[in-house]
Amino acid sequence: MKIVIHIAVIASHRIVRGPANGGGSKTTKSPPLAGSRRGGTILNLLAKREIATLRRRSELAMTIKKEFFIMMTKAEYIWVDGRKPCAKLRSKTKILSKPPQTVQDIPDWGFDGSSTEQAETKNSDCALKPVSFIPDPIRGEPHILVMCEVFNADGSVHKSNTRARLREASEKYKAHEPWFGIEQEYTLYDADGIRPYRWPAGAGFPAPQGRYYCGVGSDEVYGTPLIEAHTTACMKAGLAIAGTNAEVMPSQWEFQIGAIGAPAVADQLWFARWILYRLGDQFGISARLDPKPIAGDWNGAGAHTNFSTKAMREPGGMDVATAACKKLGERHKQHMSVYGAENDKRLTGRHETCDINTFRYGVSDRGASIRIPMATAKQGYGYIEDRRPAANMDPYKVCTALIETICGDGFTAPAEWVEITL
Ligand code: ADP
Ligand code: MN
Ligand code: MN
Ligand code: MN
Repeated sequence: MKIVIHIAVIASHRIVRGPANGGGSKTTKSPPLAGSRRGGTILNLLAKREIATLRRRSELAMTIKKEFFIMMTKAEYIWVDGRKPCAKLRSKTKILSKPPQTVQDIPDWGFDGSSTEQAETKNSDCALKPVSFIPDPIRGEPHILVMCEVFNADGSVHKSNTRARLREASEKYKAHEPWFGIEQEYTLYDADGIRPYRWPAGAGFPAPQGRYYCGVGSDEVYGTPLIEAHTTACMKAGLAIAGTNAEVMPSQWEFQIGAIGAPAVADQLWFARWILYRLGDQFGISARLDPKPIAGDWNGAGAHTNFSTKAMREPGGMDVATAACKKLGERHKQHMSVYGAENDKRLTGRHETCDINTFRYGVSDRGASIRIPMATAKQGYGYIEDRRPAANMDPYKVCTALIETICGDGFTAPAEWVEITL
């Protein structure tokens, strides 16, 4: 538009100045036509054509630029770091010239592993390999979120890459068609992450638990607008979000992902966590996954993992479910070692948990390690609920442990996975 106005000014300038200069105007490039009233008219016409052409050109240029810009894609590469005992999310943005059609279209990338507890400074390069992607519901189209596995510079699997083993276990036992539904509990904190969101400042406490679970209204539950935005964002991103609810402790909430297979369920849980953190940032709220945020008579935060195989979902499945519970009992310590750091603070045997040193399963029992839902017992098939995982668990580890124990010979935790030793 600026160019067009500029030309229009020059053109009108020529017509006015033309006759006064006696046809010798230096401002015009077409002397034969200048200096007469007729010339002015022709100039006028020419200028109009020139303007029209330039406008078309400029519009074309703008359109091309705009279309190119429209295609340019912010790809947020997300990965799990090497922090001990509890790994955290990391991410950084890469600009792609156009949105990818498949995950193969997304280039590999790298990062400084010495800043994420994944490498020494001397040999710091780690590789990021995209493994799945979803629309970015916060930035909107065409931007994307990309889940990555971490590899060493020589192409071998990095020791912090827990997804690789889940990938292999899922492939090995795919005939069992394992499904997972994960209930992610979490706690909202003020922006600095020190005090739960809207809890009285200092040493004060809110009213005791009892009124908050599935409560309605600003005086009963805290943070609803963020939870609503998060649910919508997960839906927009195409995640298998199954529901949300306010939890027993004030400022504690839950969402569920599933029931779907692995490793998809675990990728989706990490994506949903990432979206929660980023949206929280916009609301001035920090979401945290501490298993026991506040000591005392306040509920902890878990990540109940509901599990079924094809055989469990079919008539006669109750026997398969019971057999699965027995197998889980034999491997209790191995599972507990990878079900989340500080889970011992949460699994006290109180607040709807079973003691960490005890394994128990039962129908409809929310004080058991594994609950067989009432509906499953009644119809004779369905799924089981592993109530032991902590909110901060790594779903790649938990899903691997469940598949290897229930579908295979039993899970043994690799040394680098261990978070708790019983
Ligand atoms: P709770 O009563 O424990 O709070 P929720 O409704 O929060 O249960 O979560 C139950 C989860 O179990 C949901 O994510 C749901 O998708 C999942 N689920 C349902 N059926 C199955 C199944 N056959 N296999 C695995 N997960 C399932
Ligand atoms: Mn639930
Ligand atoms: Mn819950
Ligand atoms: Mn549950």
